[in-house]
Amino acid sequence: MSAKKLPEHLHLDTLAVRTAVAKSQFGENSEALYMTSSFVQPDAATAARRFAGEEEGYIYSRFTNPTVASMEQRLAALEGTEACIGTSSGMSAILLMCMGLLKAGDHVICSQSVFGSTIKLIAGEFGKFGVQSTFVSQTDVAHWQAAVQPNTKLLFAETPTNPLTEVCDIRALADVAHAAGALLAVDNCFCSPALQQPAKMGADLIIHSGTKYLDGQGRVIAGAICCTKKLIDEKFMPVMRSAGMSLSPFNAWIVLKGMETLSIRMRAQSDAALELAIWLEQQPKVARVYYPGLASHPQHALAMQQQSGMGGAVVSFDVVGASPEAGRANAFHVIDSTCVMSITANLGDTKTTITHPATTSHGRLTEVQRQAAGIGQGLIRVAVGLEHIDDLKADLARGIHSLS
Ligand SMILES: *Cc1c(COP(=O)(O)O)cnc(C)c1O
Repeated sequence: MSAKKLPEHLHLDTLAVRTAVAKSQFGENSEALYMTSSFVQPDAATAARRFAGEEEGYIYSRFTNPTVASMEQRLAALEGTEACIGTSSGMSAILLMCMGLLKAGDHVICSQSVFGSTIKLIAGEFGKFGVQSTFVSQTDVAHWQAAVQPNTKLLFAETPTNPLTEVCDIRALADVAHAAGALLAVDNCFCSPALQQPAKMGADLIIHSGTKYLDGQGRVIAGAICCTKKLIDEKFMPVMRSAGMSLSPFNAWIVLKGMETLSIRMRAQSDAALELAIWLEQQPKVARVYYPGLASHPQHALAMQQQSGMGGAVVSFDVVGASPEAGRANAFHVIDSTCVMSITANLGDTKTTITHPATTSHGRLTEVQRQAAGIGQGLIRVAVGLEHIDDLKADLARGIHSLS
């Protein structure tokens, strides 16, 4: 058992290191990893009471597990929500949320700029089961308002978006949702609670892919929903018990330890991303830079207000190109000229990653859909890690300076 009780009103950096469930009888300083599928019950009557929900106690790791509970408590503390439920991936967090909250005939309003798999899940999979959905402009609150129907149950946003870093006004969307009797969910992958806490701006559900900045070193797939205890007890835990999108204790332990350095990583990576973005804006062969920390970003003021004055660690930019084909050739040249950055679609890693969205993450869209989404053939996305900024600039300069 832990000997000390944490004081109230601790800073986020302290909560990230110290929040977890009670220690075992051994007094380990690092949180224990409980790799077990089930938990032994002292007697049949206790087992019966625990299964009936009349007594607290671990039963089976599809339902709850102490290592997963530690990760959930720590993330809830960082997001400033009452509770959290861990899931096997970011997408399974969205799946669990939709299964728990929606039924046939209900309506969802979603930004058209959210993660591609989120659009496929809501429009495609839930559409099959009779859930209606409308996709609206990320940045125009009036579009969200106009899409409200009597059966609207959920508004879903992600801010900033991937890869164009569009920002939406969380407080304004919460007001639209609540006036309609609906809930607002915000996917907070890009900023993480170290920079942005959507619950403080009125969001009801915060979605995480633990795969990204929470782990921070690109090791595991994990996810979570942060919300009230009531929503978890009444809406999500029953689905989790039946459907089993449960988080592995090992992956929970990795994310739990990753969160200890979240704040320091986010600040360092965000500072480096800003420096890289400013440098990119000065390059003649770069046509446009997308980064919320730049004064040239259309929602710069809103982003600074929502994101603790920081832009996050993802920078996208268009290289010049007289035609889409030329833009693509130039983008490929810049990507292939890097020697330090990893050519891979993940983000949130200490290793900087570089990718060409039009042929990877957005490759399944038609050219018309891609143009509507603003994803040009010259677009490159960089998710800045922890390497020295001068090495990252030099890595991009090699390709950019040799463009004809
Ligand atoms: C990666 C990502 C997801 C999906 O998370 P997984 O852990 O890969 O399932 C959802 N939303 C955003 C914004 C992401 O970047």
